[in-house]
Amino acid sequence: MNRFQDYLPALKTALGKLDAWREAYGPTAEDDNPVPHYAPERIEEVLLKLEQRLEENYPFHHPEYAGQMLKPPHPAAWLAYTLAMTINPNNHSMDGGPPTSRMEKAVIKKLAAMVGYDETSLGHLTSGGTIANLEALFVARELHPGKAIAASANAHFTHQRMCRVLNAEFIAIPVNAEGVPDPEFIEHNADRIGTVVVTLGTTGLGVVEPLADILDITRRHGIRVHADAAYGGFFTLIKDSLPSRQHWQAIHDADSIVIDPHKHGLQPYGCGSVLYKDASVARFFQHDSPYTYFTSDDIHLGEISLECSRAGASAAALWTTLELLPLEPSGLGTVLTSARNAAMKFAARLRDSAAWELYSDPDLDIVGYFRSPESKKLTDLNRANNAIFQQGMKNRDDPFYLSLYKIEADQFLKRFPGFEANADRAVILRSVFMKEEHERFVETLAGRLGI
Ligand SMILES: *Cc1c(COP(=O)(O)O)cnc(C)c1O
Repeated sequence: MNRFQDYLPALKTALGKLDAWREAYGPTAEDDNPVPHYAPERIEEVLLKLEQRLEENYPFHHPEYAGQMLKPPHPAAWLAYTLAMTINPNNHSMDGGPPTSRMEKAVIKKLAAMVGYDETSLGHLTSGGTIANLEALFVARELHPGKAIAASANAHFTHQRMCRVLNAEFIAIPVNAEGVPDPEFIEHNADRIGTVVVTLGTTGLGVVEPLADILDITRRHGIRVHADAAYGGFFTLIKDSLPSRQHWQAIHDADSIVIDPHKHGLQPYGCGSVLYKDASVARFFQHDSPYTYFTSDDIHLGEISLECSRAGASAAALWTTLELLPLEPSGLGTVLTSARNAAMKFAARLRDSAAWELYSDPDLDIVGYFRSPESKKLTDLNRANNAIFQQGMKNRDDPFYLSLYKIEADQFLKRFPGFEANADRAVILRSVFMKEEHERFVETLAGRLGI
């Protein structure tokens, strides 16, 4: 297990140098008359109170936690963030954070190369996937005013909500028996649709929607494609090992792409990204600012994004992480491979079990599954799986942390026609195996569940 305190010597060395840099500017008045609330002992008192409160969390660091998309950042990201944040640079403009703005541009180049965009593409970090998607949909609406933005029923709820923010019509594309958006629906409604959102790794079950097939349709109709790869984006590093490889191979044909380094890029929260294939969309962001953009003629990140202040520390953290784990199969890709292997092992256990069912073959590292009730009634299925979910968190000796996932009854029955639909929805179990530690722990976890 990573003990964060093991990294304190490295942090101390780096902080010592940064303190020396600060001191080189000369003394401040506070050096003679220290402000009491800065006293380390006073801060420690409060910090220890905070520590107590933090223990109220679920054990996100432990592989027995396979509930939501959560895990601690890489120690390198934490150290880099902590170090950079003592300066608190603002990546809104070169005025606010020259080195971290350059780091942001460098990591964006790497992300663009990962998805196969060329040097002429545009992009920047964001504080998260929601704002990154909002921005991509804003560009989409500007390019196709009056036309709808369509996303599958399994897309993240943010798309529908952001269409309301943007005052753009939203169309929910129905999903077929495989749980992917129905291509015929897109074909039939092509006249009304300006942009299709394709999710590469749905938040629910990590489904990779068929981007290559959808592109065949959208190209013919001049429809824009936005790839929401907030969760799945980094799986493109190991695409050759994935059943969905053909769709990852087509990702460079999407007009815009969102990837969250704070999901599978080992970053602390506050790090999303958006990329545009055609840099001319920068015109939609054009504005002048009476306060900023003075220190450099280079592009200021605030000139190409909706957000203003943003943590330069986020760029420093991602830059440092990618120095250590480059965007290659043998770099960050190893993390994705472990996660994927864990999901496959868990799915194999479920396939071999009589009492349990695998909802669908996992595309990435998220598994949907349930314990099948003898009655084959949805109400019993829901009760049984809810009880398992609750029981795992109460179990003191061998706990497990899962999440629940709701599926419309008709959708569930397409896969499991033997069930009686005496409820509107089926509630199944969902596990996100996004930690490297899951690969070895997943058998133990299956044992705790009685699979
Ligand atoms: C997480 C997620 C989002 C939202 O991103 P945040 O970083 O939580 O704001 C959007 N789309 C998908 C597919 C996601 O998984």
